[in-house]
Amino acid sequence: MRKQKHNAIGWCHETRNPITGCLHGCSYCYVPRVKGRFEKDPMKPAFHPERLERMRKELATTEPSRVFVGSCADMFGEWVRPGADVTPDHVRQVLDVCSKLPQHKFIMLTRNPARLADYDLPSNLWAGISVSDIEKRDMLALNERVDIYTAAVPPGRRVLSLEPLTTTYFDSSWSAPVLVTAWMGLMDWVIIGGLTGKGARPTERDELQYLVEFAHKECGDGSTIPLFVKSNAVADTADPLRVQEYPEGLRLA
Ligand code: SF4
Repeated sequence: MRKQKHNAIGWCHETRNPITGCLHGCSYCYVPRVKGRFEKDPMKPAFHPERLERMRKELATTEPSRVFVGSCADMFGEWVRPGADVTPDHVRQVLDVCSKLPQHKFIMLTRNPARLADYDLPSNLWAGISVSDIEKRDMLALNERVDIYTAAVPPGRRVLSLEPLTTTYFDSSWSAPVLVTAWMGLMDWVIIGGLTGKGARPTERDELQYLVEFAHKECGDGSTIPLFVKSNAVADTADPLRVQEYPEGLRLA
């Protein structure tokens, strides 16, 4: 049996967190709001071997699913190092379990794609970049690492998550739209999400429309970029900007 799609995320059937914690310190982070599912300090990096074992056992018998691993973590943060609370060997253990469950498609997201190059990534893993437009600094830093990302993750399994998408791409003082559309052109799937939580700023419609139109322009070979706009970016299911597409490799009946 397959689990229901996770409502808040929308594009996966389930999430697994054998590693938790993240030290990027984003002001809009949702992880503290899911406190209670995890430890006293959900941001503190931690490896949970019992959860990894449960993931290995349970997913061995479920229907093929899209599984988001690390929804409450960045497993590729700079803090993952030998001797730390989360080590590269822990990450390898998680990747190994994924590789031994070939019936599933695993998705992991990181704000630090350069570290993906440190691992042998299984062929059923879609390893993606996550970036928000809130911090121009983060976007520029990411731009410097895109080449490392494309070298580490082969075409056919590249994901870009623009989340949260807010309002600054169209700030004329810098070239965010150029950067974002250049990245999109390298990707096999693009996810767009909004801010969540009390008083969250809504997603800017002009900006979203621009990105939807860009994704739906035909590439040279006649294809377009599959796009998934989350419900926290566009709540109305009848809204034409609520596009929810999957690339062929992630389509599961
Ligand atoms: S990268 Fe994600 S998990 Fe880490 S602090 Fe930012 S929003 Fe939270």
